[in-house]
Amino acid sequence: MVKINENFLSMKKNYLFIEIAKRVKAFSQAHPDADIIRMGIGDVTLPIAPAAVEAMKKAADEMGVKETFRGYEDSGAGYDFLKEAVAKYYNSFGANVKADEIRINDGAKADCGNIVDIFGDDNVVMITDPAYPVYVDTNLMNGRKIIYADSTEENGFAAMPDDSVHADIIYLCSPNNPTGSVYTKEQLKKWVDYANKNGSVIIFDAAYESFISEPDLPRSIFQIEGARTCAIEMCSLSKTAGFTGMRCGYTVIPEELKVTASDGSDVYLAQLWGRRQGSKFNGVSYPVQRAAEAIFTDEGQKQIKVNIDYYRENARIIASTLDEMGIYYTGGKNSPYIWLKCPGGLGSWEFFDKLLEEANVVGTPGEGFGKNGEGYFRLTAFGDRERTKQAMERFKALKF
Ligand code: PLP
Repeated sequence: MVKINENFLSMKKNYLFIEIAKRVKAFSQAHPDADIIRMGIGDVTLPIAPAAVEAMKKAADEMGVKETFRGYEDSGAGYDFLKEAVAKYYNSFGANVKADEIRINDGAKADCGNIVDIFGDDNVVMITDPAYPVYVDTNLMNGRKIIYADSTEENGFAAMPDDSVHADIIYLCSPNNPTGSVYTKEQLKKWVDYANKNGSVIIFDAAYESFISEPDLPRSIFQIEGARTCAIEMCSLSKTAGFTGMRCGYTVIPEELKVTASDGSDVYLAQLWGRRQGSKFNGVSYPVQRAAEAIFTDEGQKQIKVNIDYYRENARIIASTLDEMGIYYTGGKNSPYIWLKCPGGLGSWEFFDKLLEEANVVGTPGEGFGKNGEGYFRLTAFGDRERTKQAMERFKALKF
């Protein structure tokens, strides 16, 4: 008889967004006239840049002509034109990355989840808590031991390494989903030093790097000395360029990143990952890669900046409302997420219900991102400007 992967049974039911949808549905059925503002989901709302639209149309035309038609891409790792554009982008802010160290993918989520294929199941995995749930889920699926690095109010929701604890694989996300906190170069250096000392690998999720506005904050772990011998970076155009429905991202594995196999031989992780991808992934479509390339042109960068600035202004409006109300929060400045302490000592779900019932605003209870999220709440800046302002007016009218 067929056997299932029993590790799935040990996983928490994916109840967060289902439970949110259930509560919102029940509320709107009971109050059909309620004007509900949704600030929970992390999806973007502005359309993709005109430069990307044009590039995609042109590529679609090429696909319809025999001479310029493209089938499978040879390597499945991305066309050189896009890898070179991404490498140039990295180098523009001081991260030394070569085009050949980049693999193009269909968004960061798949690579964040699939990268575990190249690591043994007996590794100890460290995940900051709260965190983007993919890191926990994909390691539970393989039955790996997970330990948590606490992100709390005491450390500004930016967990730091503890030399007395050993981890083999470490997940870091900066700017962080859900807390919006961003590691400084000094803080990241401590993680890099820890990893090099312990022979660990850091999986660095930079999906929100484009929201960093302070020039001294690192956009990439490869701006940190020593990272090339201990880190893998994943990034995405989803939030940077409104590509959530286009699907394109990239993973960087430095050529010198290696581990020692049990027979004593050196194994380069880029080669191992290439081997894995070669068997299980056939690349990203040509029109999407051309659209992505257009994002990295001067024109494309100008256009996406307009959208990013729009979301940044939403974040500023949310943050200044919380400032006015004297509510503790992180994020909002270099991140599209605002992570607030539920006022009045309320629990995450209690606050969710109050906000829905009294302000008709939907957010995400922090508890869904890990135990340290209890008592906290995530709002996103990806919405419409007027609706964000309305939501904040309603927020201010709440009584605790
Ligand atoms: N990493 C983080 C931290 C995210 O929040 C998300 C999406 O919300 C992703 C990765 C995945 O993005 P995508 O698969 O759309 O590139």
